[in-house]
Amino acid sequence: MEYVVKVPIERLLCGSALENVEHLVTVVHKTRLLASKLLNLSIRRDVERERSCAGRVDFRPYFEANWIKKAFVGVSGGRGRVNDPRLERVLGDDMPPHRPEALPPGADQAFMYAARNVATTAATHVWFHLKDRVRRFVMREFKLPWGAYRALDADARKERARDLKLVCLDVLRLSDQPMRSPPEYHKWVEIERNIMQIDAISTTDVLAIWTPLKTDGCPGMGFYAKNRPHLFVMAMVRTLEDRKKSGSLYPECRTCVPGYVHIDSRMISALVRKKEKTRKRGRDTTVGKKEKRGRHTTGDKKETRKRGRDPSIEPPLPSTEPNPSGRQSRRKKDDPELQAEKHSIFAGSERDVLHPEVHKAIPRFWERFSYSFDTDGVAASVHMRRRGAPAGGAPPSGHRSRGHWCARTTKWVAADELPAHGLFASAEEFRERTGWSGGSGDACIVGIDPGVIEIISAVAIDTAAHIKYTNRQRRVETGVVVNMRRLEREKPGQIQRAEVSLSAFDSRALGFQAYLRYCAESLRTVERRLQFYGDITYRRRRWKMHLMRQVSESKLFKAVERLRPTDDERPLLLAYGAWGLKPGTICRKGNPPALGVGMARALSKQFRVIWTPEYMTSKTCLSCLSRCGRCSWIESTRPRTARGRVAEIRGLRQCLNPACGPNTGQLGHLFNRDRMGATNIGRNLARLLDGRPLISAPQGLDTDLLDLDAELHNN
Ligand SMILES: [Zn+2]
Repeated sequence: MEYVVKVPIERLLCGSALENVEHLVTVVHKTRLLASKLLNLSIRRDVERERSCAGRVDFRPYFEANWIKKAFVGVSGGRGRVNDPRLERVLGDDMPPHRPEALPPGADQAFMYAARNVATTAATHVWFHLKDRVRRFVMREFKLPWGAYRALDADARKERARDLKLVCLDVLRLSDQPMRSPPEYHKWVEIERNIMQIDAISTTDVLAIWTPLKTDGCPGMGFYAKNRPHLFVMAMVRTLEDRKKSGSLYPECRTCVPGYVHIDSRMISALVRKKEKTRKRGRDTTVGKKEKRGRHTTGDKKETRKRGRDPSIEPPLPSTEPNPSGRQSRRKKDDPELQAEKHSIFAGSERDVLHPEVHKAIPRFWERFSYSFDTDGVAASVHMRRRGAPAGGAPPSGHRSRGHWCARTTKWVAADELPAHGLFASAEEFRERTGWSGGSGDACIVGIDPGVIEIISAVAIDTAAHIKYTNRQRRVETGVVVNMRRLEREKPGQIQRAEVSLSAFDSRALGFQAYLRYCAESLRTVERRLQFYGDITYRRRRWKMHLMRQVSESKLFKAVERLRPTDDERPLLLAYGAWGLKPGTICRKGNPPALGVGMARALSKQFRVIWTPEYMTSKTCLSCLSRCGRCSWIESTRPRTARGRVAEIRGLRQCLNPACGPNTGQLGHLFNRDRMGATNIGRNLARLLDGRPLISAPQGLDTDLLDLDAELHNN
């Protein structure tokens, strides 16, 4: 299992390696910024060419790292010409003037890694939000005037929503699949598909790149976009037109604070080697051969002693356990010779590479280091690998035969033992994967309602103890607010003016000319901005904020832990609210992020998190299960909005059942909306574990809408 350890770079590297890496980071960042401008200009030129119908443009290179790297080489004015007519033309004719940087050793390799990142991000841009962009596009095209929408009753609105969802699915259907939306939309769908250039993709095309393991249906257009992103560039352009919300055509580097650069053993070797060569050449002219050798050895000894590093450190033995598949592994990282070579680059006694303190910073360092790291010049994400985990299903000797290996705790978990943490797509999956057979009474269940303002609101359903973690709290605890204010104070007027004038241009403009104007303005001031933000302080602050975020989250985790009373020894289960009813439709890989999916993942590293349906959970009374609504009698006592309407109190709900609550006949119980949601989500999980129905199941049109939603979000 691979993982990352974050440490300050001064505790990882030392000497010349540290200096050179810091320089490399700034150069690569600047080149990345310039190259992203060049690529963006180029793709816009190509889109215009495609539109003018002068033959089809091949967008494939924009998703290929080797080609993207040419853009890096082009803007850095580095070794070799760009060797590509398309980029050279844009570079010569359109690209505003810029000052290339002299390239340090290792830059070439760094460009390759950066180009790979750009290629992946670009492809992800295309497929990941494809369905969402189409949905927004359809909504925009068929938007009703406010009055007309108000005039519809609840059922008519739902029907309309269903029709539009079907239109989205029709736009994204494969050409040999039937239309499902009402006939009046068909013409529009065909025209749009033609403009987007996706009307010729059929099931055969998809099956040609997909060897199905299971033959239960075809994954369709989303899958095709993932594998052939270059065919969807025009669809992307079409759905981004006239947009109000952001969305960019091609990934662009906007920030002037240097970002992370991937450094591997080869680059380290190049960075250190250059230094040695120059040193040697200098010596050759002044001292004799013998003397040199003698001096060299004593110097080495001294250095070794000073650094206190044992030069005889052996490279760790590669894992000898067989692969789970039984095949001979051909992966580079398992090749012992290559590993030994990489090891000698980092651990070799003559070279100043790793800081002697590194062992203290990262326990069992040499066993796990996988000889590369990412750095922004301040922090380093060191890539580590846990070796020696039992492969496949075989438990270590002396263990029971069933169970699984937990890579986080590096412990074997027996089958009848609940895993300490994990993310489960549904209650059924939880039962299957863990072999849990208990009911709701055997666990301490905490319901969690994710939201935007309150990131999570958690309630233990047995004790009604609750906590919340708000966005504001997170902003304060991670120091975002303080840092923003500090930056405003420190920023010189020159930089401020440059940013204000840049903000008048649209960096997401789709048209070539509009983008060129932005680009020219950006490059006019880029040197100054890079110099200001290149200051190490800003990266230090980013690192500090990362630490503060960890502290903030661990505080939250402790608070969640405390929701279970100390004398309660039952396992803690977190029911995390998610829309939709179908198990497994939510957190499957490739789906657009659900609300708070990041938080669910973070929690799942500590707790057992189970996705639980949240349909109607914030509208159902806790005591009588009937429908809740706005609390109009309190709302009417409050000041009205500017338009004279009654202001809704979003957080307050009231049971609409007149027989419920303390003042029977007049009004029902009052509830805090989020707390009610969280409790009901927890109860939903309890019901699922007991095999009872949910507190509220969707009926009629709602079922259709939820099914279509699931379909629209399933890749
Ligand atoms: Zn009630």
